Amino acid sequence: MQRIAVLTSGGDAPGMNAALRSVVRAADAAGVEVLGVRDGYRGLHRGWMEPIDARAVSGILHIGGTILGTARSHTFRSIEGRQDALKMMHEHGVEGLIVIGGDGSLKGADLLAQEGDVPVVGVPGTIDNDLTGSDFTIGFDTAVNTALEAVDRIRDTASSHHRLFFIEVMGRQAGWIATYVGIAGGATAALVPEQGVDLDALRDRVRDSFDMGKRFCLVVVAEGQPGGARAVAEEIFPADSDVELDHRVTSLGHMQRGGSPSMRDRVLGARLGDAAVQALLDDCNRIMVGEVRLELNHCPLTTAWSQESHPPSHLLGLLDRLAR
Ligand code: ATP
Repeated sequence: MQRIAVLTSGGDAPGMNAALRSVVRAADAAGVEVLGVRDGYRGLHRGWMEPIDARAVSGILHIGGTILGTARSHTFRSIEGRQDALKMMHEHGVEGLIVIGGDGSLKGADLLAQEGDVPVVGVPGTIDNDLTGSDFTIGFDTAVNTALEAVDRIRDTASSHHRLFFIEVMGRQAGWIATYVGIAGGATAALVPEQGVDLDALRDRVRDSFDMGKRFCLVVVAEGQPGGARAVAEEIFPADSDVELDHRVTSLGHMQRGGSPSMRDRVLGARLGDAAVQALLDDCNRIMVGEVRLELNHCPLTTAWSQESHPPSHLLGLLDRLAR
C-alpha cells in the first residue's frame, strides 16, 4: 500500500487531531503517503485532498475540533455521491481510507466500502460514546469534563440562591454524557432516554431535599429526553403549579464540543489512529478499530454503527443511591 487518505466527519470531537496526527505519523513510519481530505465526505466526493506529512501535524495534539474540517454532506448519502467519492479516490491513487467520526460517518464508510474497491477502516470519533466496539469514543472524556466544569459553576449560583437547576447536556439518543456528568457532578438525578422518568417521584425528591436543608439541586437532562430540559421542567412545575420552588433551566449546548482534549482523548486518539493504519496494512476492510478493556479491538463497521451503545443501568443505580 503506497497511499491512503484520512478524513474527519460528522460532529467534531476533541481528540480527532490526536487521531489524525497518529494516522499520519504511523503511515509515515511505514513508508505510506497520506492525503488529508478537507471537510469530510463533502471534500471526498469533490476531490479536496492533498498530501499531509509528519511535520504538518506537528503542534496539533492540544487543539480541539479538527484541523481537517468536517461537514454534514447530503450528497454523500446518495449512491451517486459515493460513486463520485470513489472516482476521486481512484484519480488520486488512494488505496485505503480512514474515516474518523460517529455513527452516521461510519455508516457512510460502510456503504462506501461495500460499493467500491477501496478498503475502509473507521475510528470512533464522537462525543456521544454511542458506538459498539469501543468502551469509549474519542471526545467523550473531554466533553464530560467540559460539561462538569459548567455544572460546578452552576452549583455555585444554585447554592447561593437555594435553586433547582435543570441542566441539558448533549449525547443525542444515548445518555452517556448525562450519566457521567450526573455521577461526577453530584446531581440529584440524570434523566436519560434509556430510562422512563417518574416525574412525581422526582418532584418529591427535590422537595424533600430542600426541606431537609439542601442548598441546591441539579437535575441533568440528556438532549435525547423528549422535549429536553425545558419540557421536563414544565412538566414537573407547570405554570399554574402551586409549588413555590425557584428553578432555572439551562442548556450547555455547543460549548461541550470545543476545547483542548483531555489526556484520555489524546491517548485514545493516538492509539486508534495508529491501529487504523496497521489495520489497512493488514488488509482489513469494513472494520472499526476500538479499545475494549484497554485492549485493541476490531469490530465490523456494520456492528459499530448499527448497535447503539447505552450506559449500563448500574451507573444510573449508583447515581440514584448517592443522591440525597
Ligand atoms: P456525531 O455522532 O458526532 O453527530 P456522525 O458521524 O454521526 O457524528 P452525521 O451527521 O450523522 O454525524 O454523519 C456525518 C456524515 O456521514 C453525513 O453528513 C453524511 O455525509 C454521512 N452519512 C450519515 N448517514 C449516512 C447514511 N445513512 N448513508 C450515507 N452516508 C451517511
